Amino acid sequence: MSYLATTDRDVADVIDMERMRQTYGLELIASENLVSRAVLEAMGSIMTNKYAEGYPGKRYYGGCEFHDVVENLARDRLKQLFGAEHANVQPHSGTQANMAIYFATMECGDPLMSMSLSQGGHLSHGSPVSFSGKLYKVTQYGVDLETETIDYGAVAEIAKKVRPKVIVCGASAYPRTIDFKAFQEIADSVDARCMADIAHIAGLCATGIHENPVGIVDYTTTTTHKTLRGPRGGAIMCSSENAQMVDKAVFPGMQGGPLMHIIAAKAVCFKEALRPSFTDYNRQIVKNARAMAEVLDNHGLRLVSGGTDNHLILLDLTAQGITGLEAEVALGKAGITVNKNTIPNENRSPFVTSGLRIGTPAVTTRGMKEQEMRQIGEWIATILKDIRNETAISKIGGQVKELAGKYPLYPE
Ligand SMILES: *Cc1c(COP(=O)(O)O)cnc(C)c1O
Repeated sequence: MSYLATTDRDVADVIDMERMRQTYGLELIASENLVSRAVLEAMGSIMTNKYAEGYPGKRYYGGCEFHDVVENLARDRLKQLFGAEHANVQPHSGTQANMAIYFATMECGDPLMSMSLSQGGHLSHGSPVSFSGKLYKVTQYGVDLETETIDYGAVAEIAKKVRPKVIVCGASAYPRTIDFKAFQEIADSVDARCMADIAHIAGLCATGIHENPVGIVDYTTTTTHKTLRGPRGGAIMCSSENAQMVDKAVFPGMQGGPLMHIIAAKAVCFKEALRPSFTDYNRQIVKNARAMAEVLDNHGLRLVSGGTDNHLILLDLTAQGITGLEAEVALGKAGITVNKNTIPNENRSPFVTSGLRIGTPAVTTRGMKEQEMRQIGEWIATILKDIRNETAISKIGGQVKELAGKYPLYPE
């Protein structure tokens, strides 16, 4: 029995139930992953007991000598991983990393340009329900409705008209590669700064499987918990020239004390990501997404943009006559966790949607390869094509449990 179970049965039981859900289900949410035991251990460590406002060597509290060491490890490893001149590992999340760049580069009311949420962007890129949409004058670009990919000519046109202070690129539901050079050139042509938010594809960028924006764009922001497979958190990379303004925007501009246990876990994650096996892992994520996409396509399901270059697949379920919500619920009953997602030219609300987003990072971490992806793709297609067949859903649910059980979360 865990120590927690002796002091707080309620919470310990919930954690046990969640462990069972993760163990016997298939996690296909594109933004999720499973961290290593080493990352978990650092996150659950006594590093949480300390206030360390400031930065290594310049803290507002005594007793930070070991926190300086661990934050420097995290910064140096992140710089090495992406070839960055400067790194800030304090943002509490991806949204906080983006907020810091906005604070560093804009005044309230300034024009911001970004990808629309309904076509693949993120809430923190200027959605009216987010601080980013309330503080800045936002104009958004989308994808070309024919190819369902970014039309760089159209982005340049909008930039010329709007003259934004900042252009944001990067997405949460975009299955294709992003041309960071093109975005920086467009930004330069209108005297704007370019920010690449690689929250989803950071692992692919770090390993060269997707183009790495660091050194190309002015500012790169990321989460550390998606393809990077670290603790829940954010980070920023930029040139030495912009280092001071970024650091000031994070602290004291936007946050208080850094989460030092999370920063320790980020350091552990970045070391893991520097190993050759992490490149193999990211390569397998993409191979797995392609293998599953092929099966879904063969079943006549429509893939937005026609396929995938990265870790995720976006399905348009319009032809099946079902909503993203119905699909999410039906697959959930079989232990396959996915999320409903808007698609380009969406006509349903974000709570219902016409699409489904499927990602391979977490199942790839468990060691599954193309063969398993093809099997899972068959199950998904079978359920989506006959969504009210409860007998089939429950039979697949049993098979999902059996497959997942063969790939323990922490085999060691
Ligand atoms: C996930 C995501 C974020 C934000 O991450 P949080 O840590 O949840 O704040 C920011 N940008 C993009 C593109 C994302 O996909």
